[in-house]
Amino acid sequence: MSWKLIQNAERRLARETALVRPCAGGDVRVALGYPNTYFVGMSNLGLQVVYGFLNRIPGVSCERFFLPDPDELAEYEQCGRRLFTLESQRPVGEFDLVGFTMAYEPDYLNFLRMLELAGLQLKSCDRGQDHPLVLVGGALTLLNPEPIADFVDVFCVGEAEGRVEDLVECMRQTRGEPRRQQLEAIAAIPGFYVPSLYRPIYEDGRFAGFDPPAAIAKTYLSAEEFACQETHSLVLTEDTEFARSLLLEVSRGCPYVCRFCTVGFSYPKVRWKPLDRIWEAVERARAGGLDFQRVGLVSATVGNHPDIASLCERLRRNRIPVSFSSLRADQLPDELLTAMVEGGTRSLTLAPETGSEDLRKAINKRFTDEQYYDAARRAFRAGIKKIKMYSMVGLPHERDEDIDALVELVKKTRALQKDAVVTLGLGLFVPKPLTPFQWTSMADTKLAEDRMKRVQKALARVGGVRVNSESPRVALIEGLLARGDRRLGAVLLEVYRQPGYRSWMKALDKCALSLDELVYRQRDSSEPQPWDHLGASWSPERLVRDLARSVRP
Ligand code: SF4
Repeated sequence: MSWKLIQNAERRLARETALVRPCAGGDVRVALGYPNTYFVGMSNLGLQVVYGFLNRIPGVSCERFFLPDPDELAEYEQCGRRLFTLESQRPVGEFDLVGFTMAYEPDYLNFLRMLELAGLQLKSCDRGQDHPLVLVGGALTLLNPEPIADFVDVFCVGEAEGRVEDLVECMRQTRGEPRRQQLEAIAAIPGFYVPSLYRPIYEDGRFAGFDPPAAIAKTYLSAEEFACQETHSLVLTEDTEFARSLLLEVSRGCPYVCRFCTVGFSYPKVRWKPLDRIWEAVERARAGGLDFQRVGLVSATVGNHPDIASLCERLRRNRIPVSFSSLRADQLPDELLTAMVEGGTRSLTLAPETGSEDLRKAINKRFTDEQYYDAARRAFRAGIKKIKMYSMVGLPHERDEDIDALVELVKKTRALQKDAVVTLGLGLFVPKPLTPFQWTSMADTKLAEDRMKRVQKALARVGGVRVNSESPRVALIEGLLARGDRRLGAVLLEVYRQPGYRSWMKALDKCALSLDELVYRQRDSSEPQPWDHLGASWSPERLVRDLARSVRP
């Protein structure tokens, strides 16, 4: 027993205001985990939404658990206590269902660490009748969950909200039945994928399909269902990045389908939350005692929301400051800029993604340099002091002149305003499943480093400009996991206790896998891919046709 761990949990709970709490004595007990710390997890809207709808199902009691902070980890290891939930401090392993919401590939390592701390067998085949079912959902399961398939009993692929009641009912009806039978019953519910029912086949060292052949349809919310969902913060705390911000998801999907980005390809269509529903959420949060001081609008493209001007005006009339998750340079109405500045925001992120118009066209991020400058100019005029630019290197068809064009774009943006600060974030492009670039080879880390250095050098003496480069090695691991197959499970097992670049390379060697094959190789569009069995909005043929449009003269 560690009082320090219990006190930490009690302190966190005491600092929360909440619209929803687990009921006492439910017959289906769910432990909902986020594979990162409390600080990181409590800013994840997905976790809060799932927590809300699970606790609103009659008879379901859902509690949260997180990766312990470093000092807590040491305490867990020292006292030998099993990982427990925040609300009742009951061991995670005693729940009926242990669910995770997964948004970032690097969190796979934390996921394994948390299973271990909970005292659960890591591999699903080693867990028995007395163990909870381990379920994973979230943004990553829309893409390619195969690297962690060995550790998961059930994946929820698509949007869980519409189907979780069916899962709960199935668990009730199959209670006490052999685990395999229970899993087969769950696999019959649309949107649930039980990976142990399918054995991957490899031919000549490459993934070649499943035995039996798998075809799992993803489920999505209809526009009406999405409109009615409580997709906003339900628990607020000071102990997170967006403290005192009521996050409100105002749309899902993206109409732009930029070729490098999964958002436009992951959902069959864009769904907007109607203005009245958004406002109901604000009033519900206020009436329920949520302690918020601003509203954060979450959407792939907030500027496109059909009612954005009215929403900003209504927030302004009610003296509620507002901030936005992401904005496009060509969709930046003045009303948004005014609302941001009045709400105290002085910094704006506008991602050009690359420096040249020509390459931007090739990746289907279609706005001109002049549109970019116009957005920046209007932002400065409205009172924005700092512009954060984000760009990738290593994009398909990229040339040295694109890198020089990026330098020019940054310099000219900075020159628009005398006292402005421009921060450029640079990252290495990672090809992602479901996009037209899913077959593309990833640029190597040496090329990425050279290009990043070229930008850094060219901007080193430009006043008011800062450059932050992400580690190409971190991107490389992300790239490995993003398009990997089930063999990466063995690699994760080697690495999760002591992650680091060398560990990854040693583990790949030990498992007879190579970066050349899995990351750097240009894949043929006729090859089976590890995510092909999970339904997609765009067929491979349509992606191939779109890819052909990306070729530059
Ligand atoms: S990069 Fe932005 S605008 Fe383009 S598809 Fe993704 S979310 Fe939409």
